[in-house]
Amino acid sequence: MAANKKNMRIVTKPDWCKGCNICVTFCPKQCLELDNRDKIVFARPDDCIKCGQCEMRCPDFAIFLAEEERIRESEKSE
Ligand code: SF4
Ligand code: SF4
Repeated sequence: MAANKKNMRIVTKPDWCKGCNICVTFCPKQCLELDNRDKIVFARPDDCIKCGQCEMRCPDFAIFLAEEERIRESEKSE
C-alpha cells in the first residue's frame, strides 16, 4: 500500500465478492454492507479512514485501496 493514503480510495469488485462478510465485520467505521445478492457495497465512503483492513482481510481481492488517478484512468478505458 502506498504511504500517502490521501489520494487513495476504496474500489469494490462485486463480481468477485462471495459475500463472506469478513470486511463488513472488520471495518472499524461500518462503511461496508452486503446487498440483497450478498455482494459488497461501499455504503458510507465519507466515513472511510483508509485503514486497509478490508483489503487485508478479503480472501477474494474484491475490495482494495487504489490511487484516485489510476481509478480515473481505468474508468476512462472501460
Ligand atoms: S479502508 Fe478501513 S475504514 Fe475504509 S472501508 Fe476498508 S476497513 Fe472500512
Ligand atoms: S471480504 Fe471480500 S469476499 Fe468477503 S464480503 Fe468482503 S469483499 Fe466480499
